[in-house]
Amino acid sequence: MEVLFSEIGKLIGTDNEIKFGVKMKELGVLSNAYLLVQDGVIAEIGEGLPAEIPENHIKLNGAEVLPGFVDSHTHLIFAKPRYNEFVLKIKGATYEEIAAAGGGILNSAKILQGTPEDQLFDDAILRVESMIRAGTTAIEIKSGYGLTPDAELKMLRVVKRLKEYFPIIIRSTFLGAHAIPVEYKNNTDEYVDIVINQMLPEVAKESLADHIDVFCDTGFFTPEQTDKILKAAIKFQIPAKIHGNELGLTGGVQVAVENEAWSVDHLEYLGSDEIACLKDSFNKQYGGTMPVALPGTSYFLRIPYSDARTIIDNDLPLVLATDYNPGSSPVHSLQTISALACTYMRILPEEVFHAITINAARALRMESLIGSFTVGKRADFLVMKNKDSLYSMPYYLGQNQVSRVFVEGLEIK
Ligand SMILES: [Zn+2]
Repeated sequence: MEVLFSEIGKLIGTDNEIKFGVKMKELGVLSNAYLLVQDGVIAEIGEGLPAEIPENHIKLNGAEVLPGFVDSHTHLIFAKPRYNEFVLKIKGATYEEIAAAGGGILNSAKILQGTPEDQLFDDAILRVESMIRAGTTAIEIKSGYGLTPDAELKMLRVVKRLKEYFPIIIRSTFLGAHAIPVEYKNNTDEYVDIVINQMLPEVAKESLADHIDVFCDTGFFTPEQTDKILKAAIKFQIPAKIHGNELGLTGGVQVAVENEAWSVDHLEYLGSDEIACLKDSFNKQYGGTMPVALPGTSYFLRIPYSDARTIIDNDLPLVLATDYNPGSSPVHSLQTISALACTYMRILPEEVFHAITINAARALRMESLIGSFTVGKRADFLVMKNKDSLYSMPYYLGQNQVSRVFVEGLEIK
């Protein structure tokens, strides 16, 4: 089926290149534009009107149109929100007090282990729907609140069902090494062995993971343990995207690059060695490790923001994601993330735009399919309420600036 979208005030995001450094603020824009969609794929873009007008013709009355947003880092499958922990944190409770009162990743895992798969699926549907309304049309979802072979597989099966249920792109990540269960507190290597020898082969056998992730940080997994897990995953051809440098300069960036990870996410702590390592990764055969900043976590936990300005000023390609999760970033909207990034990280609205579209697509290695208005890519796009939407999103904090969402050329109601 052919559909023409015309009278687009501005079609923003026509550059089909990963945006590094100063290029992050250079927008590809067509004015008074049209978008011709053939069977869900972008067939033609241009200014004015195409040579032939198809029967299905939707006029957008001067609205701005953006590519669908890409959220490359979420933990949106969870059993319960953590309101109690939120209040305890307001009151200044310590990590131990929060854990004792039923908070933290380990308690989330305990509750999830006892929650039926169907319940997790139903709850996740509502969360994905809220993300789509906020303009996100490609989502990565991690396991990691299971922490037993059965519960990790249960989470990943929920992701598999979500992939079948929704028309949007959903990618799955196995994060068995998200935290160390209490019973392995004094023998973390034994848990690493379970991840490698019990969980990973099953995950691979059922093709449940597009990527593997490890929380490589102080109090979680060491770079040596991370290296071991990532190398085991390479045998199953599962690429890495890891959590690194949230709590210190702990070697996360280096172990990510060493294992040719597609991204390293968090980066609240970043030194000159880490910047040099990331820069060097883009000279390597595998094509580089994308740096992903998660400002929702910094806001919610009151920890330092990643120095994303320095990332861009060092000619690197920044990615932003929500880290949507019940403990450290219950933020579903990349529009909210855009506000935090502009205000707290001093990232320009144009830079944010690329960090949540084409660069974010690259963090999932899906840039040939999504992330810009390029002939041959999926017609996943947003009709915006405001005619200066790149600025209105970070400015009107918390207001949804997306009016209509189209996935493969069809409107999602
Ligand atoms: Zn995370």
